[in-house]
Amino acid sequence: MNIAVLKETSPGEARVALMPDSVKKLIAAKASVSIESSAGLGAARTDDDYREAGATVVDDRNALLASADVLVGVTRPSADDFRRMKKGAVVLSFLRPLDEPDKLVPALENGLTTFSMELVPRITRAQAMDALSSMATVAGYKAALLGADHIPRMFPLLMTAAGTVPPARVLVLGAGVAGLQAIATARRLGAVVEAYDVRAAAGEQVRSLGATFLEVDLGGIQTEDKGGYAVELSEEALKRGRDMVAEHAKTADVIITTAQVPGKRAPLLMEESAVKGMKRGAIVIDLAGSTGGNVVGSKPDEIVERNGVTIMAPTNLPATIPVHASQLYSRNVTAFLNLLIKDGELNLDMNDDVIGPSCVTHEGKWMNQRVATAMRVA
Ligand code: NAD
Repeated sequence: MNIAVLKETSPGEARVALMPDSVKKLIAAKASVSIESSAGLGAARTDDDYREAGATVVDDRNALLASADVLVGVTRPSADDFRRMKKGAVVLSFLRPLDEPDKLVPALENGLTTFSMELVPRITRAQAMDALSSMATVAGYKAALLGADHIPRMFPLLMTAAGTVPPARVLVLGAGVAGLQAIATARRLGAVVEAYDVRAAAGEQVRSLGATFLEVDLGGIQTEDKGGYAVELSEEALKRGRDMVAEHAKTADVIITTAQVPGKRAPLLMEESAVKGMKRGAIVIDLAGSTGGNVVGSKPDEIVERNGVTIMAPTNLPATIPVHASQLYSRNVTAFLNLLIKDGELNLDMNDDVIGPSCVTHEGKWMNQRVATAMRVA
């Protein structure tokens, strides 16, 4: 069974789907691995590193695609890439199946079996495959660093002979995986941190990191589903959150927003008036930019100025820390591949509670109900 790795081609993408240590593990599982020449360079891994790990390095991208039994990627391969693969081959990557299902039609038409890293269920057995959490960890960390780098002040409290420097104030909205990592990083740098989330369980986690948890009276409404994920709130409940956020935004030097609701547009947490109320020199980093944004006026991958306040919405911070982002991602995909390989051969058990739900297309059919619905809407 040949596992192929392409060089990523999206602008700014420096990650690679498999690092050499994962290649060794896959070869130990009796698979063979081929990789496009220079695919690892962004993550500081050379062709020789891959050769030493046992991979074959290939210059011809089309030949690599045609030879792949399983193609692993970070971002979704192009329509042409899908068309160049052999019928029945497997693709494992981030695929954006709920946001852009139509982009997977070429894979469907070519009879490819596609697995989406976004759809890997968050059950205990699949924790080692949870690439969303891995990438959110990297993004949350980097967002705190961006904030520290941008503001015209220091993060820690300093007592010097020239007087006392007060600590920076950071407000984090959404305390999931990315938010908690942003809180932890800002705390390590010495900032005073406040955080808000609609899930009550987040409160304990926020406090355990030394931050203050902001609570809003939402009138006892249901804020999470059975799986522990936030649900879409009513306009009235969202407004209560926004009013509280606007009040705390007035004193913040850095605001990092990470609030998302799986499969829905990101909730709007800061209106223009909240941004206007902020101090000059402050920064808002909206990590929900790719799902519509948490902040009015934020634009994906652009830097916007509003009355001396900077608003950024970087959509791919993991690619700016490519070594560790690739290392974590590579381990996530390798754990998933280990489910698909038996005695060095492909073994697709669609009844498996991780493999089945992660599958998007198989034998010319849409396999995931949510994706099929998103496709009809599109
Ligand atoms: P996410 O990226 O979907 O959302 C980020 C955060 O935004 C969440 O904490 C959510 O509650 C919050 N949010 C949504 N709407 C909001 C609003 N209107 N106002 C304020 N905050 C709002 O979530 P995530 O970071 O991927 O994960 C969230 C949860 O899933 C956490 O409880 C996490 O521990 C859990 N999780 C479980 C596993 C597992 O393996 N069981 C793995 C990863 C995450």
